[in-house]
Amino acid sequence: MMKRVYDVAVIGAGPAGSSAAREAALLGLDVMLLDKEAMPRPKLCGGAVSKAALDSLGFGLPGSLADGECFGARVRFRDWSSETKAAKSVAVLVSREKFDHFLVQKAVEAGAEFAVGKAEDIRTGPRGLEIVTARELIPAKAAVIAQGASGRLIRKVRVPDGPATSGICIEHRFATAKPDRFADLKEIVDIQLGVAPFGYGWVFHHGTYCSVGVGMLRSAAEKPVDLFRSFCRLRGLLPPDSGIRGHLIPLGGVRRNLAADRLLLAGDSAGFVDAFYGEGIAYAVKSGRIAARVLASAIREGNLSRTRLSEYARICRAEFGLHLEYSLRLSEILHRAPWLFMRIFSRNPGVLDEYIKVPAGKKSYLAFIRWLLVAAPWLFAKGAVGRRGSARRT
Ligand SMILES: Cc1cc2nc3c(=O)[nH]c(=O)nc-3n(C[C@H](O)[C@H](O)[C@H](O)COP(=O)(O)OP(=O)(O)OC[C@H]3O[C@@H](n4cnc5c(N)ncnc54)[C@H](O)[C@@H]3O)c2cc1C
Repeated sequence: MMKRVYDVAVIGAGPAGSSAAREAALLGLDVMLLDKEAMPRPKLCGGAVSKAALDSLGFGLPGSLADGECFGARVRFRDWSSETKAAKSVAVLVSREKFDHFLVQKAVEAGAEFAVGKAEDIRTGPRGLEIVTARELIPAKAAVIAQGASGRLIRKVRVPDGPATSGICIEHRFATAKPDRFADLKEIVDIQLGVAPFGYGWVFHHGTYCSVGVGMLRSAAEKPVDLFRSFCRLRGLLPPDSGIRGHLIPLGGVRRNLAADRLLLAGDSAGFVDAFYGEGIAYAVKSGRIAARVLASAIREGNLSRTRLSEYARICRAEFGLHLEYSLRLSEILHRAPWLFMRIFSRNPGVLDEYIKVPAGKKSYLAFIRWLLVAAPWLFAKGAVGRRGSARRT
């Protein structure tokens, strides 16, 4: 008997893969969603899912999945700090194990088939592609590679990221102590600049635990684990003796190839992460859904060539690619002169109030940069003479 040929095989069941699989199934395609790990599986992440990410899912998130709501941010640099709180939530905090599992369930509910298996290779087969796993060959007309930031299959489409185009993030969960030293972070995320080169440290309060981590550009990171330990101590935490883990994160805003014949990259595999503060879930979901729509049209037309699939890069660029490029420009300026930003942030709380509209999905980076440029003379004047530190609810 001839083996079933899937329309689309999706490799990796993170937010990008699940979103691609769900969208493709809703469009009537026969979809296989494959992950090397059974769900729920652990995933290093701060777990902040922005309002923009939630809006792009296409369905609501059950309240039971939210560890907490985030209304704003406190940004610190040395002894400076600035804080903003919006009236409405700008993000929810989730544990990625549960969040990703839920997204897989939504894909399955829409009609995708989920299987556990590691894709070792993708090769051309008599009926399109063959996804090679240890146990079987999965025939498919096309595939979405959504295997995260690293992995060999990405090379089928683009050059892998080097130290200048990717970062490393180290994260650890600390159980909430009694008394809770981070009790004031229940509604805001805490970002500390200047503790890692071209990056920052964070404390995100998830109720029963805090996600504490540092992220930095790989080319500038000499001893990331030492920096993580120093950051823990700075925040009054005893760094763990063992079990410290890191994960790569691509630098968004860099132009990468996204398509090959019958293949598209989505999420981290495509390099879609906000370089300014490391948000990737929103772009994983958006790119996964776009990939599915482009493949559905291309399959209907019977043309899965790289040229046909290049429409994917055009749509991603129009929807969020420029946004990521501006986030990269902004992060380059921020990390070259964090003291300048902090001086402006801490003496002009309006700047952080404006910035928080970006993860809330209300403002693009371009609009934020334009706002900054227009306000620059006034901000510099105030930055030089104004008072430090403030907290306001906008
Ligand atoms: C420490 C850290 C903190 C972060 N914090 C945040 C945050 O707070 N908010 C935010 O928005 N973003 C955050 N990010 C970024 C975010 O985690 C990623 O952008 C997001 O997970 C990308 O989703 P994805 O689906 O592309 O990849 P992933 O979530 O990495 O999923 C890839 C999947 O592919 C599977 N896989 C890999 N290889 C194979 C294979 N060969 N065969 C089958 N399956 C395979 C993996 O098991 C995995 O399930 C953080 C990243 C790090 C490293």
